[in-house]
Amino acid sequence: MQCSICKRREAFFYRQYSGEKLCKKCFTESIEAKVKATIAKYGMLQFDDRIVIAVSGGKDSVSLLHILAKIERDYPKASLMAVTVDEGIRGYRDEALKIARENCKKLGIPHHMVSFKELYGYRLDEIVKKVKEKRDLKLTPCAYCSVMRRKALNITARKLEANKIATAHTLDDETQTILLNIFHGDILRIARGKPVADETHPKLVQKVKPFCEIPEKETALYAYVKKIKFQSMPCPYASEALRNDIRIMLNRMEEKHAGIKFTIFNSIEKVRPALEKLARREGLKECSECGEPTTDRICKACQMLKEIG
Ligand code: SF4
Ligand code: ZN
Ligand code: ZN
Repeated sequence: MQCSICKRREAFFYRQYSGEKLCKKCFTESIEAKVKATIAKYGMLQFDDRIVIAVSGGKDSVSLLHILAKIERDYPKASLMAVTVDEGIRGYRDEALKIARENCKKLGIPHHMVSFKELYGYRLDEIVKKVKEKRDLKLTPCAYCSVMRRKALNITARKLEANKIATAHTLDDETQTILLNIFHGDILRIARGKPVADETHPKLVQKVKPFCEIPEKETALYAYVKKIKFQSMPCPYASEALRNDIRIMLNRMEEKHAGIKFTIFNSIEKVRPALEKLARREGLKECSECGEPTTDRICKACQMLKEIG
């Protein structure tokens, strides 16, 4: 089977949604070109940005690290740093941390770490234990983890004087979040999940998602072809989340109806301006407990920590 782009090398991957058959070289180049195009399309990065890449050690974030390192070589005034958040998940995060560190070292990117324990006084494992003891608390580990990780990243990026945080949210993450918001009855929340965050506050570092139009399967394949080391073990808490059921459902749909994830993503991009008008978002203020930017009087992370005591 011949590659549909170079028409020379043997194809190893059939991209079902576009009908292309790709060789390894054309495949990796197509991912890099797509990331560049996404950055330009949404105006994600400027030539002199100080960018923090959120690197968990998984396939998406290490692939993003390598691709942004390659792109940023053409922008000598820009700088890259990597931050790994150690949530405190026994038997899982330690290996990921090591992998994140090794990848950064290889690319010459400074690597920083921040932990839930040092910021909040608890590891995620301890939070989960406390939540299970309190029967009135119904949230999953991921709900606590994502809120606290977002805050940890913002605090660390601000300390590092970064003006951008690049996260490796893929097309799959984005479409799952859209459906998750619908399933939670939180439809107006979709207005917030833009590829380039537009909430502003002097203490808030802007978030961008250069992988928002790349399917997760392809970030994994990119890491595999480029022989990039990543952590493949899933988080022990992942299966408890509704997101996991949505992931399985979307993957089944994509298999039968190639391109459906793009259709969902693009449909939301079209109606997002209307949702934004309906959402009538309030400006951010500072949390009365910790001073971090929030829409409420007390930020979500502080609310959660209060609830678990
Ligand atoms: Fe945190 Fe959930 Fe991700 Fe595990 S799967 S790292 S608990 S958000
Ligand atoms: Zn080719
Ligand atoms: Zn707070």
